[in-house]
Amino acid sequence: MGRPVTAPRVPEQELSRALGPEARLRLVAEEVERCQRCPLHLTRTRAVPGFGPATARLMAVGEAPGEREDREGRPFVGAAGQLLTRLLEGIGLSRQDIFITNVLKSRPPGNRDPLPEEVAACAPFLDAQVEIIRPQAILLLGRHALQRLIPGAPGISRCHGQVLRVGERSYFPCYHPAAALYNSQLLEVLERDFQALRRHLDRLAAPPAAPPAAAPEQLGLF
Ligand code: SF4
Repeated sequence: MGRPVTAPRVPEQELSRALGPEARLRLVAEEVERCQRCPLHLTRTRAVPGFGPATARLMAVGEAPGEREDREGRPFVGAAGQLLTRLLEGIGLSRQDIFITNVLKSRPPGNRDPLPEEVAACAPFLDAQVEIIRPQAILLLGRHALQRLIPGAPGISRCHGQVLRVGERSYFPCYHPAAALYNSQLLEVLERDFQALRRHLDRLAAPPAAPPAAAPEQLGLF
């Protein structure tokens, strides 16, 4: 008989809120590193919880670790990560100021798509990170991040480059940088979308008298 499946010990659910956000994020990361909730723990080299400050106003969520991320235990350090860094720097952002993570914290073999049961098993970790950081905006890199955080949203080809609002939080979907590595047309789309992200972040930083709700590209979903 296999071992009974137990609910994850997600720190956000267990620990006193007296702990600061940095400490709570660290505890989530430790849980991820120990996690055996789905079979990906059998094939990963290292889990990749995420990286960045707990005070980040912008969070970026990708799909899953790739080969290099799996080796190093850090998100977006391969070719797609270098493109992400370049795109962020192109709009005046440093990745040091952003918390970067993925839907899945362990690499699927051969970089295949995440399975629904893996996404469900890993969901409490991403949810806890969002809850702790409480970012103003979440950059959704690719369709898996979009589907995970806004179920029922239009497809990525329809809503990339637009602000989606769910409650108080804004989400900004765009294509995954890996898809643009060898596709110059998609790269141009991604660069344009990052310019729109810059404008959205500027509106968020503007004084309350500014009229962010009147921005034409904003979609209210729920
Ligand atoms: S992908 Fe997520 S649920 Fe699966 S083993 Fe890794 S951390 Fe655990």
